[in-house]
Amino acid sequence: MIYDLTIVGGGPAGTSAAISAARQGARVLVLERGRFPRHKVCGEFVSAESLSLLAHLLNGARETLLDDALRIPRARIFVDGRMLETSVAPAAASIARVDLDAALWKSARTAGADARQQVTVQSIAGSGPFLLQTSDGEFETRSLVNASGRWSNLNLSSTGRSGISGEKWLGVKAHFAEPSSQPSVDLYFFNGGYCGVQPVSVCGETSATERVNASAMVRSDVASTLPEVFDQHPALRERTQNWTPLSEPVSTSPLIFRNPQPTQNSILMVGDAAGFVDPFVGDGISLALRSGALAATCLMEFFAGRTSLPGAATRYHQLYARELLPVFRASSTIRLMLKLPRSVRKPLLYLLQGAPAITRYAVRKTR
Ligand SMILES: Cc1cc2nc3c(=O)[nH]c(=O)nc-3n(C[C@H](O)[C@H](O)[C@H](O)COP(=O)(O)OP(=O)(O)OC[C@H]3O[C@@H](n4cnc5c(N)ncnc54)[C@H](O)[C@@H]3O)c2cc1C
Repeated sequence: MIYDLTIVGGGPAGTSAAISAARQGARVLVLERGRFPRHKVCGEFVSAESLSLLAHLLNGARETLLDDALRIPRARIFVDGRMLETSVAPAAASIARVDLDAALWKSARTAGADARQQVTVQSIAGSGPFLLQTSDGEFETRSLVNASGRWSNLNLSSTGRSGISGEKWLGVKAHFAEPSSQPSVDLYFFNGGYCGVQPVSVCGETSATERVNASAMVRSDVASTLPEVFDQHPALRERTQNWTPLSEPVSTSPLIFRNPQPTQNSILMVGDAAGFVDPFVGDGISLALRSGALAATCLMEFFAGRTSLPGAATRYHQLYARELLPVFRASSTIRLMLKLPRSVRKPLLYLLQGAPAITRYAVRKTR
């Protein structure tokens, strides 16, 4: 059987593409090397502008996931001994990846996609149609979406520059019990990284435990475990004193930043495979869902015979540049500010603290 569309990777980007295309009648294959449910390094902050798309993608399957998700109407930024507070409007949702990714996977199957776990794509030949070598044999497909994330065996040739100014960065995350957590996303910045903390719930949890997710992006020479991360910031060290772990820590490295690349040889790149946005702007999941749906929309024109595969890829590239690239530009501006020397940053933060409208504006610019 020749599939219309094969998607490599079953994270938010891959399942978004799969659900969107399968619902419109395409023969879709999704190949995922891992197995759901599983924890994933992530702040679990799902920004508001993708919530209606997410509801549409889940379409009744586990809708309680969205209904029950804690809302995050506030952000607090702890940096250089100051605290900047701003509203997140409309409020974001806090959804554990262990639940989110499993629910999207289930929805892809319900939509009619042939979704296979524990199958690794090893190599890709052709430029449309494509032939895939996998751990489960060969597959032929008319079109291909690469949703294999930031760092997969398929993306190694395009790694580009690694980390901020060439350093090695890693991500680490775990859930903890914290009595009386606040409904806010709290970002603790320190030299060589940051740690985000926000309350989160997981499906089926009946106890009244208040759970927070702590996720950090940190330079490998500064810290490699969460306790080491907590030690980098006095307010965070203080806050974590009474925490007890609720999940095993998970980690990932390296975190690669490179210029977004939405297409490669008529392959549509979606989510982190297209470009990895700084985690602290909390837009990675949103970009993944939106780019996946966008790729499916463009490919439907090819399946209907209204354009060629290169034509569909070009259209996707244009729409990606128009609708999704601005998020990357805004995040690099904020990253630049955090890299300023402390002597310059301090008066700037003082200014921001006294002018919440500017802080709100800066946060909104990344939305
Ligand atoms: C520290 C940190 C904090 C973050 N916090 C947030 C946050 O709060 N909010 C937010 O929106 N984003 C956040 N992000 C970013 C977010 O996690 C990603 O943007 C998001 O997971 C991208 O989804 P994706 O589907 O593109 O990739 P992934 O979720 O990485 O999925 C890719 C999938 O492809 C599979 N795969 C890879 N190679 C192959 C292969 N060869 N064959 C088959 N399958 C393969 C993998 O197993 C994986 O399941 C954070 C990231 C980090 C590192």
